[in-house]
Amino acid sequence: MMVQNNDRRGIGMTSARTRDRLVQRLKDNGIRSNTVLEQIRNVPRHLFVDEALASRAYEDTALPIGLGQTISQPYIVARMTEALLDGFVGEKMLEIGTGCGYQTAILAPLVKKIYTVERIPDLLRRAKQRLRELDIYNVQFRPGDGWEGWSKYAPYDAILVAAAAPTLPEQLLAQMMPEGRLIMPVGPTGRQELLMVVRKNDHYERISLGPVSFVPLVQGM
Ligand code: SAH
Repeated sequence: MMVQNNDRRGIGMTSARTRDRLVQRLKDNGIRSNTVLEQIRNVPRHLFVDEALASRAYEDTALPIGLGQTISQPYIVARMTEALLDGFVGEKMLEIGTGCGYQTAILAPLVKKIYTVERIPDLLRRAKQRLRELDIYNVQFRPGDGWEGWSKYAPYDAILVAAAAPTLPEQLLAQMMPEGRLIMPVGPTGRQELLMVVRKNDHYERISLGPVSFVPLVQGM
C-alpha cells in the first residue's frame, strides 16, 4: 500500500473522515452549495492553525491563530462564501481581514482574482506563504487598514469583510461595482449581524443573514 505523504502534520487516516463529518454538519446547518462544501472538504484547515490545535481543525469552531486573532468558524466561512457566490458574475473581489488566509484559500479557485488586506503584517506574511505552499497564485496581498479598502483596483464585483464594524465603511461602499455585493458583519459587540449589501443604481440594498460574532474591524494600522 502507498503511504500518502500529503499530510505534514500527521493527522493521516482520520483526516478524510473528520472532514466528511464537518461537511455533513455544515449541510445539516443549512449550507446548500456543493461548490462551497467541496472547498471545505478540500482545503486543509489543519495547515492554518497552530500545530497544537491541528487535531481540532475540522471541528466547526473558531480557533486562535496568534496575535489575538482567530481563524473563523467553518460554518461562517461557508455561509459568507455561499452568499458571496450567489449571483456573483464578476471576476474581481476584495477581502478585508486575511488573518491566516483560510477564507482566502476557500475562495481562490472560485474567483479569478482576489485582493486581500490585513492590518497585522506578520499574519499577512504567514498567510501569503501558506497560500503559496498550496499553489494558490491568484491573490494579491496588502498590509493596510481595511476601512479604506484598496482603491487602486476598485471597483470590485464583491467585497468580503471578516471583522465587524459598527457601521458600513463608506470607502468600501464606494469601491463596489454596480450590482456588486458586500458581505460583512455590522453592529456592536454582542449584537452583530451579517449583512449582504447589493449596490443598485441609486441606493444600496441590505439583507440580513442573521446574528454573528466577529472580532472588531480595528481603526488604523
Ligand atoms: N479571514 C480569516 C479570519 C480573520 S479574523 C479566516 O479565514 O479565518 C479577522 C482579521 O481581520 C484579523 O486577522 C484582524 O487582524 C483583521 N483586521 C481587523 N481590523 C482590520 C482592519 N482595519 N484592516 C484590515 N484587517 C483587519
